[in-house]
Formats: sequence, structure tokens, C-alpha cells
Amino acid sequence: MQGKRRILIVGGGTAGWLTAAYLARYLDLAQQAAFEITVLESPELGIIGVGEGAFPTLRATLAFIGIEERDFVRATSATFKQGIRFDDWLHAPLPDGTRHHFLHPFEAPLDAEGPGLVPYWLLQPEATRPAFAAAMTIQNRVVEQGRAPKRAEEDAFGGPLPYAYHFDATRLAVLLQARAIELGVGHLEGRLIGVEPDGKGGIAHVLTREHGALEADLYVDCSGFDAALIGRALGSPFRSARDVLFTDRALACKIAADAPEGPVQPVTIAAAHGAGWTWDIGLQATRGIGCVYSSAHMSDEAAAAVLRAHIGHDRYTARLIPFEPGFRPAQWAGNCVAVGLSAGFLEPLEATGVLLIETAVAMIAELFPFAGPMDLAAHRFNARMTARYERIVDFLKLHYCLSRREEPFWRDNADPASIPASLAGLLDAWRHRPPSRFDFVIDHESFAYFNYQYILYGMDFVTDLSPARGAFPNDAVAMRRFAQIRRFGEQAVADLPGHRELIGQLRG
Ligand SMILES: Cc1cc2nc3c(=O)[nH]c(=O)nc-3n(C[C@H](O)[C@H](O)[C@H](O)COP(=O)(O)OP(=O)(O)OC[C@H]3O[C@@H](n4cnc5c(N)ncnc54)[C@H](O)[C@@H]3O)c2cc1C
Repeated sequence: MQGKRRILIVGGGTAGWLTAAYLARYLDLAQQAAFEITVLESPELGIIGVGEGAFPTLRATLAFIGIEERDFVRATSATFKQGIRFDDWLHAPLPDGTRHHFLHPFEAPLDAEGPGLVPYWLLQPEATRPAFAAAMTIQNRVVEQGRAPKRAEEDAFGGPLPYAYHFDATRLAVLLQARAIELGVGHLEGRLIGVEPDGKGGIAHVLTREHGALEADLYVDCSGFDAALIGRALGSPFRSARDVLFTDRALACKIAADAPEGPVQPVTIAAAHGAGWTWDIGLQATRGIGCVYSSAHMSDEAAAAVLRAHIGHDRYTARLIPFEPGFRPAQWAGNCVAVGLSAGFLEPLEATGVLLIETAVAMIAELFPFAGPMDLAAHRFNARMTARYERIVDFLKLHYCLSRREEPFWRDNADPASIPASLAGLLDAWRHRPPSRFDFVIDHESFAYFNYQYILYGMDFVTDLSPARGAFPNDAVAMRRFAQIRRFGEQAVADLPGHRELIGQLRG
């Protein structure tokens, strides 16, 4: 049809179908004929099918595209994620069996802004004060007691505490596909075999084995690590982050849950090992487990042994997934924009993969010009996404560089030469004051100042406020507030259902 804007999405993983559903909803595809969105995917190549932890933003995204929370929970075997518990990151397990752990919950610390409570926590004696997240949040207690973040009768996607989900990645792509098709997205099964450049840095048309040439106004590269359009065809350079983040391999597997109706962890468990970490994610009937490591510091055999030791038996099949940490600074080139793994991948420690897809898609929807050239949209998109990736690199590095573990991987991570200047400068400042919202530019960040506080103080980082003790005279008020937070936590534990109970209720 004359004047129609055509969008062709290459790839049918989470990135492809989420992009399709979001744009279809945003552009109200079902109601008007000005746009056409098609997804081309190759079932023969399949999808990566890993990535089981989300960010709280996924709730708003699902609500926006019109997927019901109960349907999502049923269809993707989802459970409720309230944050990440980090085991053994500060030091390796001690000979007497003592292990270090801390929680990075989704809930912001109570009274975190301005002078607030943080200085009063910092000024307490280190040996006797409660852990940072325990002192500052309700969620810490709720997680420790295995409670859910909400009651079944609460509004869909709402509730008293922030939460995200753990889910089966393959089933999520299937659910998103069904919704996108309902919203009017076209679906072609076939393999992309060539790309004809337009001579202006973009794409004239793509060639497929089954459907011949396909032409569009905007091409969205969701082809995963293959980066068939943005990388292979257009040659947009990849910027490696390997000099900062050393992990480059994952061994991933799925095992049956210990007891089908037993307790499910309401957090991701990220346990450090000699050259990386393992993830452990509880779904409804299975556990997704993986070992992330640096191939420069650990062999594949040693990583397999770490995974086996974590699981406690060898009755599973693990998949080896190599990756290069990094991203493309020019993710939008001419009339082609990359979303998902084709744009970049850092590592799954803070589960930023789907978050970056959500960010990119929202940005494409809002910046997409209804007519005329795309240069300004591309320029803005590239600047914002580059900043996002750079800032995530810093945040991930924070977890590693504060460790006091002795193994070479951890010593290399603490080497100042491997710490970006932007992070080193903030760490210097934070020795004398806690992270503040003014340290960050909101549109460049995936994490707020309080996320940094959780990692810093979880890892025993010292912000020395003792020279300014006199500036914080309201000790008694602060102590009352800490006691109140404790009571709120206890009340929440009493009011909220167990995690497994909520899942059962939502599954109906
Ligand atoms: C080890 C690991 C752990 C992760 N953990 C998390 C996590 O906890 N949380 C999180 O948010 N993210 C995580 N991620 C990232 C997450 O997996 C991805 O962001 C997400 O799955 C999106 O993938 P994708 O759609 O970009 O790629 P894919 O799922 O690989 O999809 C690519 C699609 O392109 C198609 N395709 C490729 N080439 C062609 C061609 N020539 N012709 C036609 N079709 C083609 C494929 O068939 C497929 O449909 C993790 C990633 C890894 C590697």
C-alpha cells in the first residue's frame, strides 16, 4: 500500500518478538493501516533460550503489550524475583565454613534520598550493625523468610514490594510471539541469506531462501549473536569490554526442582567461584543453573567441575555458550537498528539482557520518525544506548573490583588498571560520602544510586563519615526509624503468602 511504513524484524527470540509486540501496540497496528510489521525467523537456527532473570520494568512492559500477569505466570513457568543474593563475593568460604552473603533487593532503601538514614547506618559500629539491606529495607526480611512480594488478590503487576520474575526463556518468546501476532504482526519462517546495501550506510533489501527479496523502511536486527544485519552486512564495529569484564563463557543447564511443590527461592542466587560465578534460578518445577567464567582464568573442564559441585550430581546436560562481552556503539546505522544480543551483551550478573531490549524498544517507538529521514533518531539512540552499556559495565565491575578473594581472576579484577576511570573517580568520592542521585544522569542509567549503595555496603566498602559526625545529630530519630523498618518487615512477613503459595494461587 502506498505510503505504508514497513518494519522488518529479523529474528524471533525474545528481542524479535518483544520488539514486534511493543511496536505493534505502540503504533496501534490492529487499528490502522499506515504501518506493517513482519518478523522473519529461522526455526532451523532456533533461539538462544537462556536468560531467566528479569528486571521490575518487565511488569510495565507486559502490561503495555497486553499480556495478563496470570497468563504470563502460567505460560512461562514464572516465579517472583525480588533481587539477587550474592554468596562468597567478598571472600571465599572460610575453613570453618563461614560464608559471606548479601542481598541486592529491588526495593529502594527507605529514606535513601538526601541526608536520610544512610549516614546513620554508616556511623554505626561495623561489627554490630545489621547488614545494609537488612537495616534499610522491608524486602530483606521478606526474602529471608521466603515470602512473596504480593498477595494474589492484589492488582496484576502491582503489590506492596517491587518485583520482577524468573521465567523459562524459550516459553517467553513463544508467549510474546502469540501476542504480537494477535496485535497484527506478520510472521515469516525463513532464513536470511543476503543483504543488499543501499549505498548510504543502510539496507536496500534483504534476501531470504524461502521468500526471495524483502524490502522495508526500517530493518530491526534481532538475529542474536549472529548480528546478521548490523554486524555481518553493515560492519558496525563491536567494542569489546573484555579489558574490564573478564567473563566470556557460560555453561548452562536445567535440572528438576528438589521437590515439585517445595519452597522456591524468591531471588536469584549468584555464588562466586574461583574465576567467575554460578547462577541458580528457581522456576516452578525446575532450576536453571549456570556457571559463568573467564576462559583466561579457568578451563572448560574446571568450570564443568564447579557446576557439578554446585548441583551435587551429574545427571544433566550442560550447554557451553561462549560470548564476547561488549556492544556496538553504532547500534542504529542508516535504516537498520539492532536490538538484543546483536547489539551487545555484557554478562548476566545483573540480568540486564531483557532490560536493554525493553529500553531499546521504547526508544525506537518514541524516536521513530513517522516520515522523513532517520538520522536524528539514530544519533540519539546510539548516544543513549552507548551510555547505558558503558554505565552497566561500571556497575558490573563494581561487584568484582571490591572483592577480597585471592584467586588470580579476582586479583586481576581488583587491579586498578582494569577499573574504568569513571568508576574509579566515583569510588574515590564514595570513600567520603555515600552515592547520591546527583552522581548519575537518569536517562543513561539502568541502575540508581541506591543500587550502588547495596553493592558497596554489601561488600563492606568503607565510606568514612567520622570527620562529619557532628553533621548528623539526629541519632535518636534515626534509631526509631530503623526499629520501625524492622517492624514493617515483620508485619510484611506475617501478611504476605509464601512464594510457592502465591504461584499456586496465580496458576489457579
Ligand atoms: C549465558 C547467558 C545468560 C543470560 N541471562 C540473562 C538473564 O538472566 N536475564 C536477561 O535479561 N538476559 C539474559 N541473557 C540475555 C538474553 O538471553 C537475551 O537478551 C535474550 O534471550 C534475547 O536474545 P535475542 O532475541 O537477541 O537472540 P536469540 O534468542 O538468539 O534470537 C535470535 C533469532 O534470530 C534468528 N536468526 C538468526 N540468524 C538468522 C538468519 N540468518 N535468518 C533468519 N533468522 C535468523 C534465530 O533463529 C532466532 O530466532 C543471557 C544471555 C546469555 C548468553
